[in-house]
Amino acid sequence: MPSLTTLSPKALAELRSDLRREFEALKAQGLKLDMTRGKPASDQLDLAAGMLALPGNRDTTAEDGTDARNYGNLQGLAETRALFAPVLGAPPEQIVVANNSSLALMHDVLVYALLKGVPGGQGPWSKQEPIAILCPVPGYDRHFTLCEGFGIRMIPIPMTGEGPDMAAVERAVADPAVKGIWCVPQYSNPSGETYSDETVRRLASLKTAAPDFRILWDNAYAVHHLTEARPSLVNILEACAEAGHPDRPIIFASTSKVTLAGAGLALLASSPANVKWYLAQAGRRSIGPDKLNQLRHVRFLRDAAGIAAHMERHRALIAPKFAAVSEAFAARLDGWEVARWTSPLGGYFITLDVTDGTATEVVRLAGEAGIALTPAGATHPYGKDPHDRTLRIAPTFPSLDAVRKAAEAVALCTLLAAVEAQAAG
Ligand code: PMP
Repeated sequence: MPSLTTLSPKALAELRSDLRREFEALKAQGLKLDMTRGKPASDQLDLAAGMLALPGNRDTTAEDGTDARNYGNLQGLAETRALFAPVLGAPPEQIVVANNSSLALMHDVLVYALLKGVPGGQGPWSKQEPIAILCPVPGYDRHFTLCEGFGIRMIPIPMTGEGPDMAAVERAVADPAVKGIWCVPQYSNPSGETYSDETVRRLASLKTAAPDFRILWDNAYAVHHLTEARPSLVNILEACAEAGHPDRPIIFASTSKVTLAGAGLALLASSPANVKWYLAQAGRRSIGPDKLNQLRHVRFLRDAAGIAAHMERHRALIAPKFAAVSEAFAARLDGWEVARWTSPLGGYFITLDVTDGTATEVVRLAGEAGIALTPAGATHPYGKDPHDRTLRIAPTFPSLDAVRKAAEAVALCTLLAAVEAQAAG
């Protein structure tokens, strides 16, 4: 198959009108599909149906003898912390189990840092010169929205396939205004990549001008495998402690995409000093979390093997959806040199890099055909993708049949946009 640039003007015009015709036929189908957010589908939520009957009204006493129905235990039940210790790679005493959203924990950590400062720092971040946070791109739009909402400057850092470009990170942290970095270290949102051992070790041993630099380690996809492969991710708490920076990392995770997206548990793990700091702030905000939900999760998931078995059931439902997207993209786009896409080994997203300058147009065309995509630019700080290239595809929520249809449509829009751009010269 020839690449677009080598087509004669006549062949290009023919291809364009063929694709236009196909696009009109696609529109006539009146599809209404949503590939915008990485939400679990209802059949995935059904996997946790048994959990809703737990712990039951006779089973409300925690291991320590306290009544899980009552106030208290800000840090979370010991048995829940023990359950998630292997997921987080932290000892139970360095774990906090909170309510349903890890994003809320990230929000609170930023707010507390801005208003109060963090251990080892020089007071509130908001009272210092305007601070900045490094944002690997493509990245998770809600991390960027948090920063933007609090007026924290964002510095994009390219991803390399093994995590962020560490040479760029090392240069950037020479500025004392740079207080942290967002990381989704495993099956990253949206590229799917996992940080290499070298990346993690370099992050742990960074020489930062800011004494209170924080790695915001959002390990949202720690157990969300799509294949038999199990990536090895260096333990960030241990690596930072070994490098002499025990307070540098704050780990976040949740069971949003393990049990129930709206009714799971959010998790935080960090050094003893950071956990103490966090609890001191959080203690003003709440008298304690929902511990019945914590017991419910312990009774339902039981242990690490229980979590793994449950995630296998998710995999059986969603791996075919990822495969359907790859197949549809390959069928339409292979050979044209107009796009590249990832084949992630886990997580919730596929990144589709289209021809430079056409991502916005692909989203517009897809919208015209009834397929909602995450807006172009959402994978970058301030919604600005300088190359107008990167799209995030979220295949989990629609049915398998709908995902296949949507991916075929997106592939058609991708090729059409590239052809139109080529025709326009
Ligand atoms: N972090 C990442 C990287 C995510 O992709 C998501 C969900 N899309 C979240 C956090 C949100 O997590 P939670 O439901 O625990 O707030």
